[in-house]
Amino acid sequence: MALRLYAATTSQGKLRDFRTAAAKYAIDIDALPGLESIPAPEETGTTFAENARLKAVYYSEFAPDKIVLADDSGLEVDALNGQPGVRSARFAADAGLRDSPDAATDNTDVWNNITLLQRMVSVPADQRSARYRCVLVAARNGQVIASADGSVEGVILEAPRGTGGFGYDPLFYLPDLEQTMAEIDLETKLSLSHRGRAFWSLLPKLGL
Ligand code: IMP
Repeated sequence: MALRLYAATTSQGKLRDFRTAAAKYAIDIDALPGLESIPAPEETGTTFAENARLKAVYYSEFAPDKIVLADDSGLEVDALNGQPGVRSARFAADAGLRDSPDAATDNTDVWNNITLLQRMVSVPADQRSARYRCVLVAARNGQVIASADGSVEGVILEAPRGTGGFGYDPLFYLPDLEQTMAEIDLETKLSLSHRGRAFWSLLPKLGL
């Protein structure tokens, strides 16, 4: 029987990523049951690791004896001194461009991308390096049982390209593939992405 892991995320993009990463293993990924009605914890950490840990521990209390996965992830842009970093989901809201910082909608992604383009408007092409980072934590009954991280290097474009993925993907260009994260298929994305790398390095730590 397949092992079932419960992802504590309301992001359809992250859920799709986890399911694609798990597809070649006997692992089923489900959203944590009842997640919509569980109040989200405040992400008070200053690092991806702190926030991922805080979310995994918190949500695992709502699913006794189950393995619950939580990730904290985001974009670090060198020309912006690592911003938006842990504030990636709320970049536009922090800039006062959006009222509803916690609404994880496509619209939020659009506003975040506009904010990023505005901040980088005078940054020359050879200084637009960035990376996605992801820290993934597995917890059970309020205890961390494993954690792993992953990253992928890229360049921020001056205009979006592609319709796949989510978040900053249309602006995140992979020089080796000559495509953005929003132009490649999901399996290719996961094979090289921060989330795919974190997921695959977590599995052996869970004895899988
Ligand atoms: P979190 O839910 O606090 O981890 O927010 C992560 C945010 O970082 C997302 O809302 C996106 O804006 C961005 N992000 C993280 N991973 C990805 C990705 O794989 N593609 C595009 N954007 C991402």
